[in-house]
Amino acid sequence: MATIAEPVLSFTRLPHPAPVADEVREGILAAPGFGTQFTDHMVVIEWTEGKGWHDATIGPRGPIPLDPAASVLHYAQEIFEGLKAYKHADGSIALFRPQANAQRFNASATRLAMPELPEDVFVEAVRQLVLADQSWIPGQEGASLYLRPFMIATEPFLGVRSAKQYKFIVIASPAGNYFKSGAPAVSIWVSEYTRAAPGGTGAAKCGGNYAASLVPTAEAFARGHDQVLFLDAAEHKWVEELGGMNLFFAFEDGSLLTPPLSGTILPGITRASLIELAREEGLTIREERYSIDQWREDAASGKLLETFACGTAAVVTPVGRVASPDGTSFTIGSGGPGQTTAKLKDRLVAIQRGQMADTHGWVM
Ligand code: PMP
Repeated sequence: MATIAEPVLSFTRLPHPAPVADEVREGILAAPGFGTQFTDHMVVIEWTEGKGWHDATIGPRGPIPLDPAASVLHYAQEIFEGLKAYKHADGSIALFRPQANAQRFNASATRLAMPELPEDVFVEAVRQLVLADQSWIPGQEGASLYLRPFMIATEPFLGVRSAKQYKFIVIASPAGNYFKSGAPAVSIWVSEYTRAAPGGTGAAKCGGNYAASLVPTAEAFARGHDQVLFLDAAEHKWVEELGGMNLFFAFEDGSLLTPPLSGTILPGITRASLIELAREEGLTIREERYSIDQWREDAASGKLLETFACGTAAVVTPVGRVASPDGTSFTIGSGGPGQTTAKLKDRLVAIQRGQMADTHGWVM
C-alpha cells in the first residue's frame, strides 16, 4: 500500500495476478499505433453523495462492474481528459502541464453537473498510474504514453437529474503517431453538421460532443480526408475547430490567428502553450473569428502562408488541403509543412521531451 498526497486521499495498490509478458509488451511498444493497446493498470476512485471521493485504488486494468441503469449509459454524464507521459533521454519521465488538464477536467465536471475532483488528486492519480506502468512508455521519437482520465455517472437511476454516484478512472495507452497516413500535411473535410452551439457543451470535454462528431468524421474518412472541420452553429461561416484539434493560421505579416474561446470550442492546452511560445518568437497573436470564405481567399492570394492543427494527440500538424461538400477545395501554401508550423512544433516538442529548458514550469 502506497500512501501519497496525504491528507487528501490515499491510493491502495491491488495485486496484479497476470501482467502482460515482457516480450509481448516489447512487441506492442515497437509499433504502438494510437489508442488500441493498453497498459496493465488502472486507477479507480469512487464518489458518493454525502461522502465525497473515497476508495482510491490502483490495480489491474479490466472491465468495470456497471448497473445497466447507470446514468452514464442513458444520459451520457461522462467527461474525460487526454495527456501524455514522455520518456526523456536521461531516463526520467515527464508529464506536460497535468495541472491544466486537472483544471479543464473540473470545468467539464461543472458543466455536466458532476462533482469536481481536487486538482492534486487528479495529478496524483495520473502520476501513480505512470509509475505503475512506466515500462509501457515507448522510447522512440514521437512516441509517448497517452493517459486517459475520465469520470462516469454510475448511480442506477432512470430519472433525469445529476447522479449521486460516480467513478473516476485513469487508463493508459502507448501511443505513436495519431495520423495513420504519415503524410507531411493533413487534409480536412468541412462538416455540414454542427458540433456545438452557444450555451451548449462545446467547451467541455464530454463524450457527447464526440458522439455528435462521428457522422461527419466518417464522411471525412470515406472521402479520404484525415479530419473534420466544424463551423459555428448560428451562421455556418466561422471556423471553429477540428474533431479533436484546435486550429492556427500564420500570415505573411507575421501574425498568427486562432479562433477565440467562444464557449463552443475546446480550450486546448496545446493551443494555450503555442500562444505563449509564438509570442516569445515575436509573432503577433490574434484570437479572432475567421470565416471559411476569408480563409479560402487568403490562401488564394498568398496572404495566408500556413494553417496547422494542434492537440495532445496530434501535437502540431500542418493542414494542406480543405474540401467542402459543395465540391470545392483549396490548398494552403505549398500544401506541405511551413516554417512557422515547424518552428513552433520543434519548440513545443523540445520542451515536452526535455531537450530544451522548461522556462514556463510546464513539465512535471
Ligand atoms: N479540440 C478538441 C475537440 C479536442 O478533442 C482536443 C483534444 N483534447 C483539442 C481541441 C486539443 O486540446 P489539447 O491541446 O488540450 O489536447
